[in-house]
Amino acid sequence: MEFILASSNEHKAEELNELLNISGTTIQPSKRKIDVVEDGSTFQENALKKAQAYYNEFKNPTVADDSGLVIPARTDILGIYSARYAPEHESYTDKNQALIKDISELSGEERNAYFACYLCFYISPEEIYFFEGRVHGVIASELKGDGGFGYDPIFLPEGQSGKSLAELSEWKMTNSHRAKACKAAVKFFQGQN
Ligand code: IMP
Repeated sequence: MEFILASSNEHKAEELNELLNISGTTIQPSKRKIDVVEDGSTFQENALKKAQAYYNEFKNPTVADDSGLVIPARTDILGIYSARYAPEHESYTDKNQALIKDISELSGEERNAYFACYLCFYISPEEIYFFEGRVHGVIASELKGDGGFGYDPIFLPEGQSGKSLAELSEWKMTNSHRAKACKAAVKFFQGQN
């Protein structure tokens, strides 16, 4: 089966094709970007909105993902709005520095956080599947590492000796929220064959 990725991001298509190694399945980047208003109240709803919009346009099975960083002690920021945090700053270096300041009052377990990823496979209106992946850790008090993207330099995954995700590129490939959601999808679809 061929899926269209509900995003025009070729990097994501490449990454997902590598992670979603399901025999008989390919994921093509969309030829055209569709504007989708991501006004759902959960990652799952937003993933569904994207997948549905691309399905309605192209009449082809689609796959969408929605992800973000969650700090349970600060539900007023990030989460489904992770991509819109601190819009006054363009670079993630500046956004990460702003975030460290913003949560400077949090200590101990209050600094616990996780990345979440939801994948939505929209095969038809009658056949829709969701898969979730999370990676848990804490928010650091300084930026570390040059790898990855986004909030990686300030996220210290559990059990990784205080290294940030930006210092753990290889580990991230198999342990990230996205990798875990993809593994769940692969397990499910392979089981169906
Ligand atoms: P998207 O919906 O996957 O494009 O990401 C939403 C937001 O979460 C963006 O601000 C990303 O920078 C952030 N984000 C998602 N996944 C990751 C990750 O693996 N590392 C760092 N930031 C991420």
